[in-house]
Amino acid sequence: MAEDLKKKIHGFFEWYEDIYGKNYYIPKENVVNVNPSPVENGNKLTKLREFRKEIEHCTKCRLYKSRKNFVFGTGNGNAEIMFIGEAPGREEDLQGEPFVGQAGRVLNKMLNQIHLKRTDVYIANILKSRPPNNRDPLPDEVKQCIPYLHQQIEIIKPKLLVALGRIAAQNLLNTQDSLSKLRSKIWNYKDIPLIVTYHPAAILRNASLENATLEDFYFISQSAKNL
Ligand code: URA
Repeated sequence: MAEDLKKKIHGFFEWYEDIYGKNYYIPKENVVNVNPSPVENGNKLTKLREFRKEIEHCTKCRLYKSRKNFVFGTGNGNAEIMFIGEAPGREEDLQGEPFVGQAGRVLNKMLNQIHLKRTDVYIANILKSRPPNNRDPLPDEVKQCIPYLHQQIEIIKPKLLVALGRIAAQNLLNTQDSLSKLRSKIWNYKDIPLIVTYHPAAILRNASLENATLEDFYFISQSAKNL
């Protein structure tokens, strides 16, 4: 089913590019409709706020010594789609919010292509504190920090999870599989469907990944529509 949808989307993008070039425009009626209920949102926001207070001075791993800010997560507490990255970078550490640097601009652009704003979704990371020089998270750091993310997912109860990049995907799915093996399928995280796509920073390093990522975002949007 997911494979068929992906093939269809890929075919659509090829056809589109032949006719219109690379200036993709996905009509609004083709994408997911986000319509959070304000009451439920209030409850979840309160729970998220309380949870944040509980954990924001965490000293469980070494990273608390070098961080400027604890990066809890941001967005809509009643989001149907939750995006999960790896760890805060320099800008995120300074501002205390995920995906506000260059990679964040790429994420915003991708969201925009499927007619979503940051405030429609929830965005968090595997780690809440910045690893020095943006090195990969160490296993003991993930072990200490990931329960916080599990708890955030438990509060938000999104209908769809999106892992941005290999590190998020491998840690959420408990696998060592490569990103190429994990893309284009719908996985299961505690009964919540999970889709894997490239990390936005990968597109900054290699612009040729942009089309494939856009296809993934359209896949995300179409999958969310059917939940
Ligand atoms: N990269 C991530 O994985 N997360 C951020 O918040 C910023 C960059």
